[in-house]
Amino acid sequence: MSKIQVLPPEVAEKIAAGEVIERPFSVVKELVENSLDAGATEIRVELQAGGKRLIRVQDNGAGMSPEDARLCLERHATSKISTEADLEKISTLGFRGEALASIAAVSELVLKTSDGRGEAGTQISRKGEAPAQVEVTAFPRGTSVEVGDLFFNLPARRKFLRSDQSELGLTVRYLTSAALAYPEVKFVLTHGRREIINCPAVGSLRDRIFQLYGKDTMEGLMAVDFREEESGISGFGSRPPRGKTDKAHQLFFVNRRPVKDRVLQAAFNQAYRGFLEKDLFPEAFLFLTMPAGEVDVNVHPAKAEVRFRDSQNVFYLVLRAAETAMLAEKGLKEIYPVREDHGGRSGVSERLEWRAFPGPAGPGSETGALFPPAPEAQDKSARPQVLGQFLNMYIIAAGEDGLLVIDQHNAHERVLFEKYKEIDAQKKWPQQSPLIPVLFDLSDGQILVLENNRTLLEESGFVVEAMGGRTYVLNSFPDIFSAEEAKETLFALLEEMGEEEAGKKREKVLATLACKSAVKANEPLPKEKMEFLVEELFRTANSAVCPHGRPIIVKIEKSQIEKGLKRPPG
Ligand code: ADP
Ligand code: MG
Repeated sequence: MSKIQVLPPEVAEKIAAGEVIERPFSVVKELVENSLDAGATEIRVELQAGGKRLIRVQDNGAGMSPEDARLCLERHATSKISTEADLEKISTLGFRGEALASIAAVSELVLKTSDGRGEAGTQISRKGEAPAQVEVTAFPRGTSVEVGDLFFNLPARRKFLRSDQSELGLTVRYLTSAALAYPEVKFVLTHGRREIINCPAVGSLRDRIFQLYGKDTMEGLMAVDFREEESGISGFGSRPPRGKTDKAHQLFFVNRRPVKDRVLQAAFNQAYRGFLEKDLFPEAFLFLTMPAGEVDVNVHPAKAEVRFRDSQNVFYLVLRAAETAMLAEKGLKEIYPVREDHGGRSGVSERLEWRAFPGPAGPGSETGALFPPAPEAQDKSARPQVLGQFLNMYIIAAGEDGLLVIDQHNAHERVLFEKYKEIDAQKKWPQQSPLIPVLFDLSDGQILVLENNRTLLEESGFVVEAMGGRTYVLNSFPDIFSAEEAKETLFALLEEMGEEEAGKKREKVLATLACKSAVKANEPLPKEKMEFLVEELFRTANSAVCPHGRPIIVKIEKSQIEKGLKRPPG
């Protein structure tokens, strides 16, 4: 008897499905791509249990006629290409005609659609290999696909799914990139009853980044815009010296398709060499456009990778695009930009205030109760009088017998350190959970440190969950930080915890938290904030050095000034 058998179609079907559909987010990706291909301007994604129980994607795109609806679940049924030659110039996101068939093979699928022409819409339902049921149903123009009980007939695959939160995180990550690529489309994501993403259509990528990531991220970016022959690169990259401590912030798109690609990464990182401190990586939101014949998108089952016809050329294209952008920046702003934002409304000065009082609100936990002022604090006249700021990093104040030059960062760090020590002693870190899960990859070394210090980290408010492989998600963190800062702080903690002996670790953690949340050098501060800071500083017991042992104040004696100016002492 022959050893080789041809697999029965149901088995072949499931194997094929397994390649395209790996987890809930792959379903979301395929369905959203279909909606985008159908020209939708509004796409709603609903998940239950991270997508394991239910995924629904509804759009207001072109929809399907009853005849097309009957065909769309068939394998290799596609309206997007029809000849082999078409494979050479794909302009849609989908083209294989596999996604709906694959999803239907491993779930309970209900598709409703209408092209707005006939009287009513069509509903197709199918569970696994069972025959599809077709009904007429009332439905507005557009399509809704509901995928229940994913992998109900592939228990092995189902077992490999992660926690709801982790699976949700992957969908969030994907939808964020789709939203970046299609600013003109409105995206909504809900998980159970919770709305996770809601970004109405906007006019530009800049607006979209602002909408999704906020002002701080946008301020750290510079525009990239470069054309050469028929190819172009546009988008945003970090504005040196700003950078990130990990590479997770590099998003590349080729013809509006999010891709992972080493050539693009390598070129972009090389362009920044010498412009960023070591251990920092540039952030990227970069869109390549190139003729469809220059790039093969048919090399990966989930279309997450592409192959360039001439990758050498692509490398130099990215390199030149980034370099050109940086030169333009340098010419204008000398590469080290100073914030123009001086007003009292600036994010920095607002943060300074609330960060100095991170105690939870409510009776018994007011600042006064949590941090009783030192006795001499009542006597305001003894405080140095703030005169102004020098170089956006030093506070100049008049002391009793001389001028004080106060390092604003070190001073704030000291003030916060003392406060954090009190909070820590009472185990009262107010925590928050980010709306959009904070994902990152760790090195082996970092993973080890994380595992060895989990308790301490959790006591300090950092709750980290493993998502498989090197990927981790930060589920909650002290509410003195924004999500972005929390991640940077976590990285700093992992670095320092690796080196510190056990006894000193706790202090070190607090010092790092203080350092990361303190105002930076190079931040203009309005006068009232400086006064507030100086007052707080002189209230703390140890105002001479910062928690890292660096000095905080330099004093220029009155006598020194008199001597220099050849004035008689008076
Ligand atoms: P592909 O996207 O590769 O063509 P799919 O299996 O994803 O294959 O979809 C099959 C076909 O069903 C598509 O070519 C398209 O004609 C139709 N279709 C799927 N989803 C939608 C949608 N949301 N709106 C309109 N048509 C759709
Ligand atoms: Mg498709």
